[in-house]
Amino acid sequence: MPRPIRALVKPSAIDYNLQRIRAINPAWHCMPVVKAHAYGHGLERLLSGLQSADSLAILEIEGAAALRKLGWSKPIVLLEGCFDSADVEQAVALGLDWVVHDHAHLQAVVDLADRWLDTQHAPRIFLKLNTGMNRLGFTVDTAPAVIEQLDALARQMEWPVPVLMTHFANADAQQLVNARPSAQAQFEALMALKPAHWFSSLANSAGVLNCPEWAGDIVRPGIAIYGATPGPKTALEYGLKPAMSLRSQVIAIQTVAVGERVGYGSRWQATRSSRIGVVACGYADGYPRHAPDGTPVVAAGQRVPLAGRVSMDMLTIDITDAPQVQLGSDVELWGEALSIDEVAEHAGTIGYELMCALAPRVPVTVV
Ligand code: PLP
Repeated sequence: MPRPIRALVKPSAIDYNLQRIRAINPAWHCMPVVKAHAYGHGLERLLSGLQSADSLAILEIEGAAALRKLGWSKPIVLLEGCFDSADVEQAVALGLDWVVHDHAHLQAVVDLADRWLDTQHAPRIFLKLNTGMNRLGFTVDTAPAVIEQLDALARQMEWPVPVLMTHFANADAQQLVNARPSAQAQFEALMALKPAHWFSSLANSAGVLNCPEWAGDIVRPGIAIYGATPGPKTALEYGLKPAMSLRSQVIAIQTVAVGERVGYGSRWQATRSSRIGVVACGYADGYPRHAPDGTPVVAAGQRVPLAGRVSMDMLTIDITDAPQVQLGSDVELWGEALSIDEVAEHAGTIGYELMCALAPRVPVTVV
């Protein structure tokens, strides 16, 4: 008999979340981010929910190739994945657009440009500016010359109008009073440099949800389309629906006396006679090993606390106050009854990390 663990992914939730984002500003060009196997969900499983997107952004060139094979014919933008001339050649062959974030990369595009005259695809270049994140991008000082060079190249080659992009550093700040001035400053830095005929692209999910007025023309929501929150509000407060649930079952029940302990390191100790449910889900499935005692799971419809250290294939829950939980009862580790963000917060991480860490051994069903 297979282990009862499974993940359910829901393309209809992706579509719902996309519509929710579009409703904030119908003028936006909406470019969901589907890197890292669509944040762990599996691109091929969710593609039907992405049909209303205007384009897709991805990091991995193999993922872009897979998208083309799956029949995605709208634009695909390679985020920071295009690193050398070979990548650039492959990107052109696949009909991709891409981000240019440093001088060497821009030079590779300039050097190869003539060779693409006879290809079908004229790439739209996204030029990345560093306006405060200090990760990737041209500095505000060097940008004017680079913008001029790219603008001339795009005109000469008759490529689509380029996009000036940047990435918000703080749009997800726990206090919106901190998030908004920072986003506004990054927006103003970008707009001061953007040629009037170029497009702009600034916002990730936090930007779209918390600072929509500074999002620019092309928005790049990631986590929000999967129905989790970038913060500071909950996904429910933002009106988002989760696209992934992780489910399993109770495979054993132990009765432990006062003073007895449970699991590796004997971390959890019974303060009363207790029923302990053993659930087929462990860190090798992607559940966070650092989840402390008290992290909620939903067993037979009731929230119950984790009791004891998470092991590779199992975790243990205190079901003393949930007599309806029996052998074979369904357990939701995260999903519709319990948000992935809440589990992540208990484990000291973020929903992004949990969804991306879903292990390949977990069977996934599209619902
Ligand atoms: N834009 C860029 C350049 C990114 O790297 C990412 C993800 O890291 C996103 C947008 C989407 O971010 P989020 O998932 O927070 O919406």
